[in-house]
Amino acid sequence: MSIVNRQSSIKSQSSIKSSRVLVVGLGRSGLAAARLLHFLKAEVTVTDTRDKNVLSQALKNLPGDIRVEAGVHSPALLEDTDMVVVSPGVSLNQPFFDLAGERGIEVVGEMELAFRVLRPYGIPWVAITGTNGKSTTTTMIDLMLTRGGFRVITGGNLGSAITEEVLSCLKDDTAGDVEYVVVEVSSFQLESIREFAPSVASILNITPDHLDRYRDMDGYIEAKAGIFRNQTRDDCLILNLDDPLVRELGSHAPSEVFYFSTQESRGGVTPPIPRGAYLREGWLCINADRKEDRIIRVQDVRIKGVHNIENALAASLNAVLCGVDMAAIRDVLSEFSGLEHRMEFVEEIEGVGFYNDSKGTNTGSVIKSLEGFQDGVILILGGRDKGNDFTPLREYMRGRVKGLVVIGEAREKILGQLDGVTAALEAEDMADAVTKAYSMAGAGNVVLLSPGCASFDMFEDFEHRGKVFKESVRSLMKRVLVVQNS
Ligand code: ADP
Repeated sequence: MSIVNRQSSIKSQSSIKSSRVLVVGLGRSGLAAARLLHFLKAEVTVTDTRDKNVLSQALKNLPGDIRVEAGVHSPALLEDTDMVVVSPGVSLNQPFFDLAGERGIEVVGEMELAFRVLRPYGIPWVAITGTNGKSTTTTMIDLMLTRGGFRVITGGNLGSAITEEVLSCLKDDTAGDVEYVVVEVSSFQLESIREFAPSVASILNITPDHLDRYRDMDGYIEAKAGIFRNQTRDDCLILNLDDPLVRELGSHAPSEVFYFSTQESRGGVTPPIPRGAYLREGWLCINADRKEDRIIRVQDVRIKGVHNIENALAASLNAVLCGVDMAAIRDVLSEFSGLEHRMEFVEEIEGVGFYNDSKGTNTGSVIKSLEGFQDGVILILGGRDKGNDFTPLREYMRGRVKGLVVIGEAREKILGQLDGVTAALEAEDMADAVTKAYSMAGAGNVVLLSPGCASFDMFEDFEHRGKVFKESVRSLMKRVLVVQNS
């Protein structure tokens, strides 16, 4: 069974040619959008509130005839603009965008732009959102589709910006060969979609995050629900049955809903979950069209952790709906060991294991990572606060976490909210945190960096933070070896 449903052709690229487009925000996706628009012969202007000196590196990556305004988004820019393309890092809640709205100028995101540009090719889109697990699941889907013999382009919040991928296939004239576009979509990206309508959409989970940007949880859920807003009856929506907030969204879907669940009983009872992916008798099973297929035993899935079984079920269901055969899905699940910075084993020093979970940037993901251990964890938490509530960690730390090391701007808040749960130390930087965590650990224990915060107070991004953690662990290892050998 395949859901392939090629969409009707609409003259999207020709409407971009010669139109005047303003790109707001020169992060990775803003730059990629500007380059794509330039290739499509739009008149492009870019603007970013950062200073020109700070932006100089970014500007080197743009064609010379693109107009640049740095340091401010001046309203005058809107006078000769037909469309605004906004980066996900820029909040739409600003007078500048109100003004654009008043003038009838359409404001869209980079994902929407990519969708419109590819629309004439009628390629089905597969889109994944959720608070956690997006990159892991998106990567698995990409691997499964590719293993299944499909030509795929993959991007979004993960890896390259999707407009960058679109540009390269337009340049090579290979867009006509692409069979699926697979995208990881953040809630910020979903705020600026208009017509974006994926043929298969997934919402993996919803737990509190980014509450510094949303007015409340409802605002965050509403943004996530945008992923299925423009779907039709011919499209598919995949939801997590075990997550009450996600499950509830099924009743609002215009599309056909499929569920996944790791609750063995849901698959074991009669009737099983109404079409979807689930566990039965220790197997990952799929029932997408009134026939159950057993894919693989849970113990044979290479990537570990209950949350990754959720991701594996969601990815398999996506792949089946796209027409991938079971053998290809099974191969990927038995080979894929996970992405860097997600529960990545680094080294063992004197019986102490070090794990890098730098991508664990909210309370929900820290909980999932902690659940992978019984006891003896020294947890490194902290960074830039995103409005997170750390108190739910208390229950998961008791018995499991024997020491806490806090770093970054959120130190005080974390120490206050987790007061009395375990012994706690403050650290100046990552190297200090690693040394202090090691001093609290004994053989058989684990040092886990799962910061529960954004990285931007001390690092360029979560990848940089993870790399510095790994370097700090390796330099600690050298010091320990020197002491041993002296
Ligand atoms: P995202 O792209 O949504 O940030 P990742 O796949 O990069 O998600 O994983 C980030 C972190 O989220 C992981 O290190 C892990 O701690 C946690 N995580 C992964 N999958 C899930 C899931 N299904 N549910 C909850 N937490 C998860």
